[in-house]
Amino acid sequence: MSLNELDSAIKSGKVESLVIYPESRRGIVTLKTGDGGSDDKIGEAYDVLFVNDDDVKDIKDIAVASGIKVKVEPPPSNFFSYIIMLLPIFLIVGFIFFMMRSAGSGAGNMLSKFSRSNVDFVNPDKIETTMSDVGGCAEAKQELMDLFMSKANIAKHSKVGARLPKGVLLVGRPGCGKTLLAKATVKEVGLPFGFLSGSDFVEMFVGVGASRVRDLFRKAEVMALHSGGCVIFIDEIDAIGGRRHTLSQHTSNDEKDQTLNAILSAMDGFGSDSRIIVIGATNRPEILDPALVRAGRFDRKITIPLPDLVGREEILAIHARKSNLADNVDFNEIAKLTTGSSGADLAAIVNEAGIIAARAERDSISHADFREAVDKQLMGFANKSICMDYEEKKSVAYHEAGHTLVALNVGDVEPFHKVTILPRGQSLGATYQLPEKDRYLTSKKKLVGQLAVLMGGRVAEELCGSGASTGAANDFERATQIATAMVCQYGMSDELGNMSFARSSGFLGMSESLECSPETRKLIDDAIRKFLGDAYERAKEILTEHRQSLDKLASALVERETLDASDIEQLLSN
Ligand code: ATP
Repeated sequence: MSLNELDSAIKSGKVESLVIYPESRRGIVTLKTGDGGSDDKIGEAYDVLFVNDDDVKDIKDIAVASGIKVKVEPPPSNFFSYIIMLLPIFLIVGFIFFMMRSAGSGAGNMLSKFSRSNVDFVNPDKIETTMSDVGGCAEAKQELMDLFMSKANIAKHSKVGARLPKGVLLVGRPGCGKTLLAKATVKEVGLPFGFLSGSDFVEMFVGVGASRVRDLFRKAEVMALHSGGCVIFIDEIDAIGGRRHTLSQHTSNDEKDQTLNAILSAMDGFGSDSRIIVIGATNRPEILDPALVRAGRFDRKITIPLPDLVGREEILAIHARKSNLADNVDFNEIAKLTTGSSGADLAAIVNEAGIIAARAERDSISHADFREAVDKQLMGFANKSICMDYEEKKSVAYHEAGHTLVALNVGDVEPFHKVTILPRGQSLGATYQLPEKDRYLTSKKKLVGQLAVLMGGRVAEELCGSGASTGAANDFERATQIATAMVCQYGMSDELGNMSFARSSGFLGMSESLECSPETRKLIDDAIRKFLGDAYERAKEILTEHRQSLDKLASALVERETLDASDIEQLLSN
């Protein structure tokens, strides 16, 4: 509102009130609504700007004289407005100051915590695992103990100029007892033990893993100085020790590469007389960077194999130490049933047997509980809810009876143990063969016999008249795997001769791909097909010859569902 307009509004009685801010030469005019009568409601407010102090005084006088409510406000305090204006600047400056201080002090409190390895060295007295808790793997135990003992006798070795390994790589399948063995060894030699997993070093921020490695080795050196030695155990070392990328694929700044570089230089950093031993454990040694496993770093490789028959028996007994066992428990037989199981599998079987016994409200675990636990572990739980009709049950019974009869008559295969048509896991039935002892070599004769056993299921289905079913899918898969290995890896095909076509993927010995021309590929396929075809013919010959036994066995299976070797002997002798 201009001053003139204000003047006339005052004079015409339209102004309700006037607030004047002399300092800023401002005013707020509130008008009455309507015609300016005394009962008018308060209307809109307007801003007025005074040109000079005289205007302020004049308007104030006129308004007072006209009976208008006039209020003169003190000047607003500038202090707070300045503060509000400057607040963002204070905040920005403060933030920059904080960041600079953090960076300036090396890593700042938070950052330094982040880059510290969270390893705690455990006193050997606090480790409960001893060598008596580790079953089997006698050579690995001995090798590891020898190494520690030599470390303890450093003086003796340096006299003859011998250098002791700084790092040991424990290699073995998951659950074969790498961690357990490391703990037991450390307990035995009485050194503090720092346990870490490879993934403890892996972070999304570049450089954090490397600084954790440096921190770990710093702590280890202090610990070794105070305690006369220490052991660092890095589980799943492949998480950080995998091959470094070439520059063409990735930048060399990759976090993992930096962590690995830090480990390499840390291991170079301490001498072989420092009494620090680094134990790395992995299931995949083939992916480790060659620089990590070169002489002078993890140069001692100890392979922990899957337990053999004696080892399995020992492990079962170790884990059943606290169990209440019935007199009929025979761990030798359970060990025979569990070829290829790891220590962790066996521990699970003992536990499962305990659960089965407890569920049946028995005080002790019987041999049958262990057998049930093995079946559960190997084949999955019994699928009691599956309800097969008579025709399906008959087909499964013939299928399994076919496997059984071929296994009993083909010769050169593992002895028959048990047959069942109780659905378990994914399978509707199973025929078990039990090796008398662990085998390290398999002959061509045995493999050919095994192929015939696998084909026995399908042949029996066809002979009984129910025709081919989907039940043989797994048999064919396994048979094809065996035949492929015979042709491509073992040089057992007469047509292709003694040559390997498979590229091995290392430790597990699994073939990864075939390296050959399309013509050779065709020859390989023909050779595989021949092995499978011959096996089918052999199974057919056997089952046609024992046709009556097949019928007898199948109907006994429909009736009794599970038959073992002695049941079958009795049945077939009648
Ligand atoms: P991963 O490679 O998966 O880390 P690992 O080889 O380190 O496995 P451990 O953690 O040592 O295996 O073993 C797992 C469990 O299996 C142990 O706690 C123990 O109960 C049992 N076990 C494994 N091997 C043995 C063994 N040789 N004797 C007794 N128990 C064993």
